[in-house]
Amino acid sequence: MNSLVNNTLWRTQLYINGEWRDADNKKQFSVVNPATGKIIAHVADGGAIETRCAIEAADNAQKQWKHLTVKARSTILRKWFDLVTKNQQDLAYILTCEQGKPLTEAQREVDYGASYIEWFSEEAKRIYGDVIAPQSNDKRAIILKQPVGVVATITPWNFPCAMLARKLAPALAAGCTVVVKPAAQTPLSALALAVLAEQAGVPAGVLNIVCGENAEAIGHELTTHPLVRKLSFTGSTAVGKKLIQQCASSVKKVTMELGGNAPFIVFDDADIDAAVHGAIASKFRNSGQTCVCANRFYIHADVYDQFVEKFSHEISQLVMGNGLDKATTLGPLISPEAVQKVQHLVDDALAKGAVKKDVGNFTLSENLAEEYFYPPTLLINVPSTARICSEEIFGPVAALIKFTTEQEVISMANATEFGLAGYFYAQDMSRIWRVAEQLEVGMVGVNEGILSNEMTPFGGVKQSGWGREGSHYGIEDYVNIKYMCIGNLT
Ligand code: NAP
Repeated sequence: MNSLVNNTLWRTQLYINGEWRDADNKKQFSVVNPATGKIIAHVADGGAIETRCAIEAADNAQKQWKHLTVKARSTILRKWFDLVTKNQQDLAYILTCEQGKPLTEAQREVDYGASYIEWFSEEAKRIYGDVIAPQSNDKRAIILKQPVGVVATITPWNFPCAMLARKLAPALAAGCTVVVKPAAQTPLSALALAVLAEQAGVPAGVLNIVCGENAEAIGHELTTHPLVRKLSFTGSTAVGKKLIQQCASSVKKVTMELGGNAPFIVFDDADIDAAVHGAIASKFRNSGQTCVCANRFYIHADVYDQFVEKFSHEISQLVMGNGLDKATTLGPLISPEAVQKVQHLVDDALAKGAVKKDVGNFTLSENLAEEYFYPPTLLINVPSTARICSEEIFGPVAALIKFTTEQEVISMANATEFGLAGYFYAQDMSRIWRVAEQLEVGMVGVNEGILSNEMTPFGGVKQSGWGREGSHYGIEDYVNIKYMCIGNLT
């Protein structure tokens, strides 16, 4: 990759016990740039054997890592943050090449991921225990917080850098060691992060990366091996449910960051320009491939036409193309299969009575892989029976539904098994409290389309998952509570 300043970041081998190595059987799998459809790397194809090896290395390394002072762990994490920040441009370039998102979005993702490393380098020093009032005068009750042990993480392709940093940083800060399985479509960002972690002084075995096409084999080892104490998973609800079942066999702690179906509500007292601005950011970032992105737009009947007009104008301004081109604001989807899935949802909505609004023509230059792109699409008058209202779209399609009363829209918004994020635009303060409290979600944006940062808790309710990432709550998933009773004091 001659476009990188730091060529050492382009790695295609597994990283196990501080060594870069091939799979035992020397097999490789290919990584494709979704903008061009061309193969950009051949990566070592690890499986169960390499995963077992990584788990044993992590277990060995944990014995020393947990005994480092928190100050020492914090210093290493801080160095890692500095290196990620210094190499931001290269990391963003790698991310765009394997994932497709526009370079400016990739840069923001690298900064966002780095912010978790910085945050948890600081939180490492604030893992407090507790002293509880004793049951009798000859006793004392002390609460210790200790690292859970070896952590397995499985991450998706839509935020290959940030989703990993959001798990690795609290795990390492707490004194855990980690085995990572990145998505096979986007392993290069994870490997580049490992290069920088090694440079920052993360010791051999503390961080291990097993890439591979056989997710089931790697996942089975990670979820059933007795040395793994915890699984932190980000991905679809379907796969999450399967992994929870597998983890049950050895009663592992689990954190699950799963799918969403976010409602985006615009009330009649909303600032419509602000709502349109928020809608564009929430819906079209990463071409709509975000777990928190608006999936269903509920617009009050009195402001419906005004919203549609302004929203369609803003959509028409998007520029679809290769994420490496400066002008691009909308990249490809991750695969031709993803494009077909979006098309099926749109066809279903149209067959059930939705109408496609004209938002302009989006053409691609010849060197791009058409089968990976889906143009921004606005559907109006979508019936709530359409599949698009109950399934994650994961594409640049906005589905608009008209409503008239507050209670009606709250029950429509909550009529889903998901509960990750929700958004609404309104001015009336009483309504803001009423609606925010009634939405069944883990995160709610009020007059705001982008929610997440390292200082606030990220996570869902219902079938969107368990646990929280980021914030001072984020470390809790990586520590065990130990109650120590000191008796017979005189
Ligand atoms: P996915 O199919 O569930 O895959 C996620 C990860 O799980 C990938 O690394 C995948 O590996 C792996 N995997 C798949 N099957 C597995 C198995 N049987 N055993 C072990 N691992 C397995 O999800 P995705 O399509 O990559 O990501 C999109 C989903 O993630 C959406 O539902 C989105 O909402 C969700 N998401 C949630 C959050 C959140 O914080 N709540 C954030 C981002 C994304 P391979 O890719 O190698 O097959």
